[in-house]
Amino acid sequence: MNDLASPRFIHLLYAPTNFCNMGCKYCYLGTGTDEKSTLKQVVSTLDKAVTDFLAEGITPFNLSFHGGEATSIPKEILESLLDYSYQYYREYGDRIKDAGYPLNPVHIKTNLFNFDKLVDVFEKYQVSISGSVDLPLKLHEKYRTDKRGRSTLAKITSNLKLLAKYKHHKKISCVVTQEHFYQLDAFIQDIKYIHYDIGLDMTKFNIMFSFDSHKNKDKFGGGIIGTEMLTQDQQVQFYKKLFEEFEGTDLEEGLKKHWFKEFTPEFCCSAVNCGDKFFLLQNNGDVYACPRGQSSKEFYYGNLFNDSIPDIINNGWQTIESIENRLPADEECFTCSYLPYCNQGCVFVREQTELTKSYTCKLQKELYKADTERYPPYDATYIEKYAAEYKYQNKISSFKKNEISLEKNKFITEELDHEDNSLSNLIAKDSILQSIYSSSNFGMDIDDTCYQLTSNTLSNKTELALMVEHSKVYLKVKRDVLRQNSSEPINNHLTLMVTRNTMVTYGDEKRYKQEHLFDYHIYSNALESCSSIVGDYYHYDITNILKMHSDLFLEGVRNNLFVTTKKLREYHYEKQKKNAFYHIQAINLPFPFIEFYWK
Ligand code: SF4
Ligand code: SF4
Ligand code: SF4
Repeated sequence: MNDLASPRFIHLLYAPTNFCNMGCKYCYLGTGTDEKSTLKQVVSTLDKAVTDFLAEGITPFNLSFHGGEATSIPKEILESLLDYSYQYYREYGDRIKDAGYPLNPVHIKTNLFNFDKLVDVFEKYQVSISGSVDLPLKLHEKYRTDKRGRSTLAKITSNLKLLAKYKHHKKISCVVTQEHFYQLDAFIQDIKYIHYDIGLDMTKFNIMFSFDSHKNKDKFGGGIIGTEMLTQDQQVQFYKKLFEEFEGTDLEEGLKKHWFKEFTPEFCCSAVNCGDKFFLLQNNGDVYACPRGQSSKEFYYGNLFNDSIPDIINNGWQTIESIENRLPADEECFTCSYLPYCNQGCVFVREQTELTKSYTCKLQKELYKADTERYPPYDATYIEKYAAEYKYQNKISSFKKNEISLEKNKFITEELDHEDNSLSNLIAKDSILQSIYSSSNFGMDIDDTCYQLTSNTLSNKTELALMVEHSKVYLKVKRDVLRQNSSEPINNHLTLMVTRNTMVTYGDEKRYKQEHLFDYHIYSNALESCSSIVGDYYHYDITNILKMHSDLFLEGVRNNLFVTTKKLREYHYEKQKKNAFYHIQAINLPFPFIEFYWK
């Protein structure tokens, strides 16, 4: 196992089986929990995943078990898994803490059906238990049945009593649907019953709201009446009623800090791109986004046995970015003073429900307003900038015409701080480099809009253009650029390079780079004869070159068009060989470019 200098940290959930011993009516996994999977490789698959991640410098900071129902596997296999995780935390706990992550105990999400049979093993490994029940308990009887539709309530109530005495970290959560909403008084009574009568501390209780998933509809032929999701107003009413009831009681802190935690920035649902940190592994090696995501091939990132770890990691954020870019967004979000806390909520729920913003938007706003110290609203100027960056990553098609420039962060290697060695100084001393990086050599007219092509290496501005099927695209080329670094301009050519924001790994450095789609060369005499001359520039129609390759431009994925000449390109690579300071500061393509997406 390598100890790399800059390891990354991920949240790794493991579903040792997809099978579940229960058959809840609103289960978003639908029929996915019906089949028993082979259990031969349950421990070795987790071990392979952890070993392979660590070998790539990626440390799981959280190892949790999920399902299906993780406790439906044989006890001895479950014990081996818990032991594996326990030992893992012992070995890597310091690294996790040093990186600023909390060191959690081994954690399992369970429906509590088998809790009594496994409590001794859970005690042994001090497992943190998150149990799912239904409140009010009479709806547990109705919805959280076994596979044959029989009640599990008596068994679960007895296991809740056992859980109350369990010495390690524990909590329960429940899912709220329409029918729960209409039984709110009973819901409140049962919170009190579990807290005061059963003695299970409800401070850490978590409330989740159901949503209408494709799989659930498939399984139950359009959904079960009563399990439909709440409207946004109902969610707020639900929250306010709980507030009225528990404010001033010993459960007030729980209500404010934990009960609705899933809808706060502490959860994955508020990530700009959850695909860069959250992974769910199944025992056959399939990797999905998360428990929700495992019900949909769209949220599949690859297979541990067939794909490399870098490819799986890469697929994670690319998949989410691509889904995000495909989903429409509500314009209200781009002026919402809470966008950085929310980022439109869970992408899976939006994909399934076809909503254009978080399904708990109104409730979230109530939560933010109730804790302004933690969630102060952002001002309009900040939100404008943030929204532009957010759109750039997740909602490219939400850019309006002319809303094309945004600031990006620029990274400069720290050890090159000395002014003499700075890239700008190196360029200032070299006239050919000045030409390579010049912002006045190339421009582009797309329909009625003019763009200046600039190098991304020196500037933190990016032009983002929209091209559509019938766009006319003219490249403007300064006429003397083909004479730069060229004793025989006739042997020099213009070079167009097109890349796409789907990443690939290559080269000795194994860097993730944008994928090259195609290059196009046109020699100087040919360029002159194909172009019209306007002032100092050739105007060269590249519409057909782009159209010819339009199948390669994916919906919602950005592309880059770089422009330079053969001789300037050669000079850049020669300079890299001669000058290490230049090389390290100009490792990405330095040529003027424009970023575009194709609709
Ligand atoms: S316990 Fe969980 S996984 Fe099992 S059927 Fe119910 S909701 Fe689905
Ligand atoms: S799809 Fe939703 S639930 Fe799954 S990791 Fe992303 S934000 Fe979280
Ligand atoms: S709180 Fe609502 S309006 Fe604001 S960003 Fe989130 S989903 Fe959009």
